[in-house]
Amino acid sequence: MPELRQNFFTKEWVIIATERAKRPEELATHRAAQPVPAFLESCPFCPGNENKTPPEVMRSPSTVGEPWAVRVIPNKFAALSSEVQPTRNLQHLRRRIDGFGFHEVIIDSPDHSRCMAMLPDTHVASILRVYKERYNALSMDHRVNHVTIFKNHGADAGASLQHPHSQIIATPVIPSQVRHRLHEALRHYDDAGECMFCHMVEREVEDQTRIVLKSDRFVAMEVFASPTPFATHIFPLRHMASFGDISEMELADLARVLRTLLAKIYVGLENPDLNFTVRSGPAEYAGARHFHWYVSVIPRLTRVAGFELGSGMFINTVLPEAAAEFLRKVAVDKVAGAGAGQ
Ligand SMILES: [Zn+2]
Ligand SMILES: [Zn+2]
Repeated sequence: MPELRQNFFTKEWVIIATERAKRPEELATHRAAQPVPAFLESCPFCPGNENKTPPEVMRSPSTVGEPWAVRVIPNKFAALSSEVQPTRNLQHLRRRIDGFGFHEVIIDSPDHSRCMAMLPDTHVASILRVYKERYNALSMDHRVNHVTIFKNHGADAGASLQHPHSQIIATPVIPSQVRHRLHEALRHYDDAGECMFCHMVEREVEDQTRIVLKSDRFVAMEVFASPTPFATHIFPLRHMASFGDISEMELADLARVLRTLLAKIYVGLENPDLNFTVRSGPAEYAGARHFHWYVSVIPRLTRVAGFELGSGMFINTVLPEAAAEFLRKVAVDKVAGAGAGQ
C-alpha cells in the first residue's frame, strides 16, 4: 500500500510509492566512469592558473608542497554584487531590493580529479574550516541576513566547471525555505519547550532504521518523509543553531562523517550528481534554543515532474529505510583518499 508521510520540520507531505518502489541499487547511474586528469591546463581553478580568477579572498596553506590547500575567490559570474547597497523599494505591490550580496567560490583542492568523496578526511576538514571562516566573516556584514553554503557536483546538479568546488552566497534577505523552518521550530519550542531537531535525532538514533552512520558528534540519517530517494541529513548531536558555532573537534568529526557518506553514495550509486547544503540558522541565532543546523545531501537521481511542480508534493520511489540499509552496507575503506593523511 502506498503511504503518505509528513515532514516533521516543514509539515510537507510526500507520497512514498511502495507499489512502484525500486530497490536502491536500481537507481545507480550505470554511467561509464570517465577518466579525469589531476591537472588541466585550461581550467581556471587548477594551480598555476590563479591569475585567471578574480583576486583571491583567502587561501589555506598546503602541508604537502602544493601551492595551496583550499582557495576562495569571488564568483566571476556572481548572482549578487557587493558593489551595490541593499536599498529597498516598494511600489504598489512590487517590492524590490537592489541586488546586493556576496557570491564566492571555494576551490576544494588543487586536484582537478578528486571530488570530496575521494579526498582525505583531513583535507575535507580544511574545506569545512574555510566554510566556517567565510560563514562568520560574511555574517559580520550588517547588510547580510543569511549565508548559504552549498555544493553542486555534476552537470545535473548545476555544476558548470568540473574542478571540484563549493559556493557560498550571502543574501540581504532570509530565504523563505529557511524562514519556514525557523517558524516551525519556534512553534514547536513554544508548544513543547524543546528543540524539535534534538527530539527527532534522539528518537531516530533509538529507532536505528534510518541511520546511515553515527560518530561521537554527528549522525547521518535518511529523512523519514524524504521527498527524493537517498535525501540524507547530517545533524550535530550537540544542540547548535548556527553553523558558525561548530568547534574544531566537531569540524574534524563532521569531515569524517560527510566524506564517508559522500563516498558511500559515490560507490553505491556510481557517482551520481548531487547537491549538499549547510542549513544553518542566521548567525545571530547563535545560542537560540529552538533551531538546530544540519547538512542536507541530495543525490540527483530522479527528475522533478508535473505533479511535483504543480502540487509541491513529491513522489519518492525508494523507501528511506531501504536506502539507509543499502548505504550502511556500502564499504568505502578502499576509496582513494580514505584514511590518508595530508
Ligand atoms: Zn582544474
Ligand atoms: Zn537541537
